[in-house]
Amino acid sequence: MPVRCVTRTVGFWAWSFSERSRARSSTLASRWGNQRLMMEQAANRGISGIVFDAVGTLIDASTPVAEVYALAAMRQGIGLDSTVVRSRFRQFFGQDEVVNARGPLATDEPTERRRWQNIVANVLNEVPEPDRAFEELWEHFATSAAWRCFDDVGPTLSELKRRGIPIWIASNFDSRLRSVLSGLSELSSLTDSVVISSEVGYRKPHPLFFEAVIDRSNLTAGELVCVGDDVENDVVGAMRAGLRGVWIDREGKGAGENPPRVADLQALLALFDG
Ligand SMILES: [Mg+2]
Repeated sequence: MPVRCVTRTVGFWAWSFSERSRARSSTLASRWGNQRLMMEQAANRGISGIVFDAVGTLIDASTPVAEVYALAAMRQGIGLDSTVVRSRFRQFFGQDEVVNARGPLATDEPTERRRWQNIVANVLNEVPEPDRAFEELWEHFATSAAWRCFDDVGPTLSELKRRGIPIWIASNFDSRLRSVLSGLSELSSLTDSVVISSEVGYRKPHPLFFEAVIDRSNLTAGELVCVGDDVENDVVGAMRAGLRGVWIDREGKGAGENPPRVADLQALLALFDG
């Protein structure tokens, strides 16, 4: 990441946590005012625990998802360009929000399975056996080999553990996440510290999901910081529930008005300094 961007991020960090009063008149506050107020209140109590999103924050697909899908199509004799698959995946993953009788964002294991069945059927609509493709992909992404940790995960978690900071993983993945984590050396010790939406009954950013996270932590909302790559699900949703939220923006997408963000997970360690 360019030095300028790191500086800007660190600058924003300093703004967020050290110069809150001076920044009160910032135009940024108009949009994020309520969240910032909660942050200020939380700052006075201190942060005692950290909650990480999983996919895109701690882990990433070891082979790009579009390539894995294209290979599944190829096994059924259908050649698909991975660029086309990627575009379709983005479209259908984004569209296929969970809505059931209990309302938007309510979910459970069968619902998640159906959701992915629909996504696979839409993305690979040419394959003659969509259920077979779905089963193969479902099993593939249940294995640790399908995933890798970002480079900053190991050093960050080691240091947090060394300092005795409790860590949780809060994810919209389903129960397969545990088998994934169990095979990743950086994360295998956290398989009992996982909050999964299909087990809670609601997906992020539903407030009941974050309530489950708070209950699990035995801390107050204000003592927790939630870190994730999805601004709405991980940051704004967490802030609405009273947690602090930090956006992990590895690609430097943020510009203009943003919630607090870091470019690297190791920057989070500053939260626990002093
Ligand atoms: Mg994510």
